Amino acid sequence: MKIYPMVIDGQIVNGGRTLAVVNPATGEPFAKVHDASPEHVDAAVAAARAAFPGWSATPDAERKTMLHALGAALEANMPELMELITRETGKPLRGLNGVGAGMELGGAIAWTHVTADLDLEPEVIQDNDAARVEVHRKPLGVVASITPWNWPLMIAIWHVIPALRAGNTVVLKPSEYAPVATSRFVELANAILPPGVLNVVTGGGAIGAALTGHRGVDKIVFTGSTRTGKRIMENAAATLKRLTLELGGNDAGIVLPDVDVKAVAPKLFGAAFHNNGQTCACLKRLYVHESQYDALCTELARLAGEAKVGDGMELGTELGPLQNRAQLDVVRELADAAREHGGKVLAGGGVRAGAGFFFEPTIVAGLTNGARLVDEEQFGPILPVIEYADVDDAVRLANDNPNGLGGSVWSSDPARAVDIGKRLECGTVWINGHGAVQPDAPFGGVKQSGIGVGFGRHGLAEFTAIQTVKIMKS
Ligand code: NAD
Repeated sequence: MKIYPMVIDGQIVNGGRTLAVVNPATGEPFAKVHDASPEHVDAAVAAARAAFPGWSATPDAERKTMLHALGAALEANMPELMELITRETGKPLRGLNGVGAGMELGGAIAWTHVTADLDLEPEVIQDNDAARVEVHRKPLGVVASITPWNWPLMIAIWHVIPALRAGNTVVLKPSEYAPVATSRFVELANAILPPGVLNVVTGGGAIGAALTGHRGVDKIVFTGSTRTGKRIMENAAATLKRLTLELGGNDAGIVLPDVDVKAVAPKLFGAAFHNNGQTCACLKRLYVHESQYDALCTELARLAGEAKVGDGMELGTELGPLQNRAQLDVVRELADAAREHGGKVLAGGGVRAGAGFFFEPTIVAGLTNGARLVDEEQFGPILPVIEYADVDDAVRLANDNPNGLGGSVWSSDPARAVDIGKRLECGTVWINGHGAVQPDAPFGGVKQSGIGVGFGRHGLAEFTAIQTVKIMKS
């Protein structure tokens, strides 16, 4: 079985213990990575520190050229990387509405090129006879990037490219559940970047903790669960590291009574079930007006029953398995809790027989806030549909949650929907859509969904420190 190596200081690092990487469609291992030791973390941080002076002093134009070359390398290796993503995450090559490994690669390439071209020009605050005052942006030093398993390569790109663009060096630790495509990307990148600028260590939470507590790390960018984000914040406090935390979501959608049910149902279904519900900004709680409730539930249950579930390597598969057994258990437990709470399962409801970590696409009616399936992030193919009578109640219920990543309002009157959307406590609100992100618009959570944003100039600024330059004239 192939072992995908770590890369430290431009060198392939082999040896030591290994971890098996399981294909969730079969439940069988298909590759291995190294299980790093704390010494590997020390070596990677030392290499990144040593590379920082040279990389941060490299002219912008040269850094941009190298980052565009990374985008070209992703493109040139697209078939291999897509297959690795499908095997390690279970997500289909194409997937429901085209949301699959191909989109993950396409997104990674687009984010790389758009971010490579971003600039943070100095800002002039004052320029008069007394003084000229400028605000400059400087890189921070060594960035530790820790990623989850749901969009492993795309999220690694979301971290690494702006960090490098701003002049930082990086140590990347992918999820132990899906480290393969990311490790391969770092190997490809090291043919382009100077040694030590981008390093990868593989392993579990202990290796993540060794990195986030390391004295040689200046900034942490983390995407993953809220629980781990809190641990990282504690661990980072001793050296007051800068943090960007992109954490869990439990996004609400509110459907107003004026929608066309047949037209809106497939869009709602796609928003909730793409990547098998395993996206931070999937639609996870759907509030529907009583006048449309039964009709929309019926449509959603029909779509759930028709979705093609299977091995993502087979063309035509729309939804794959859960990425790992523990996540399958979370979804099964929430389905059981929903039934016990009086929820009515309109489609699906159980684990699929046979190999792999498959759960049937599931629609649950008859619940409201207070039921675990509504209050907790399910991160899987099971959607609670909640009835409301008054839109103010729907807004209150949507906001009655510690998460605040995204939210959406669905209506044939966009202006009214915007007014309601602005009342939602979330970092992004979509009108007549849900979950789409783009490389030039900021994205992040409020409340316990995170701190800071990614993407665009706002996201790039998170990888810098401000330096104010005051030139006295009198
Ligand atoms: P997770 O928190 O279990 O793991 C994420 C990463 O943290 C892994 O690399 C893991 O090894 C590492 N880790 C674990 N313990 C650690 C510790 N003590 N110190 C440092 N690192 C540690 O998350 P997951 O299950 O891989 O991902 C799913 C979660 O990620 C969901 O909650 C989802 O909503 C969230 N997510 C959020 C966004 C966003 O942009 N807000 C995007 C994708 C996923």
